[in-house]
Amino acid sequence: MPVSVGQASDWIRAFAAAVAENKEYLTELDSAIGDADHGINMNRGMAAVVAKLDAGEAGDVGALLKAVGMTLVSTVGGASGPLYGTLFLEMGKSAAGKSELSGQDWADALAAGVAGVQRRGKAELGDKTMLDALVPAVDTLRSALAGGSTLDEALRRSAETAQAGMTATIPLVAHKGRASYLGERSANHQDPGATSSWLLLRTAAETLATGDS
Ligand code: ADP
Ligand code: MG
Repeated sequence: MPVSVGQASDWIRAFAAAVAENKEYLTELDSAIGDADHGINMNRGMAAVVAKLDAGEAGDVGALLKAVGMTLVSTVGGASGPLYGTLFLEMGKSAAGKSELSGQDWADALAAGVAGVQRRGKAELGDKTMLDALVPAVDTLRSALAGGSTLDEALRRSAETAQAGMTATIPLVAHKGRASYLGERSANHQDPGATSSWLLLRTAAETLATGDS
């Protein structure tokens, strides 16, 4: 079964709720290696996104994701606004005109979003950024689908991989973003952006499941 517009909207709302719930935690992680605002930034942006959804749901999945991206770009300062904004804008382009997404469409959209983040932020895997959760999650999603997994199973596995990628940022030295100013002192702390990206993939697994497990 494909992913509907309603499920995509549920995903965005669930991500907003997870960000709100983890606002202090994300900010605490950012206080160790950044400027203590990641939870505040993301919560401001996602609260604006929810207000926008409440004002009237966008037509198809592509339009919905594009609206999310535009809202984030216009309401969130710092690195995460343009980066998460780009993620959703590129996902929206990939899903343009689609009123529902197959598993492959979802994987293609997420891959396009993550490629957009890579182009925009110029970070590589292992630089201790949100990409350390996102890139392996996309790879897992693709290989699970290619190996014949149901979308539900592929979503679960990609969320697990995102969590492992998030945890794997702890020993890393940051090479991009504010944390890179700390050099070696950025090690032994979990990256805040990789943590919010895990929430993004975890809520996807929770809300986009189609019952084909
Ligand atoms: P700022 O660093 O401007 O205060 P946030 O605190 O909201 O912005 O976001 C910090 C997060 O952004 C980092 O934890 C990291 O995951 C992510 N980030 C920073 N720079 C980059 C980059 N060039 N590419 C990908 N992600 C990045
Ligand atoms: Mg910050």
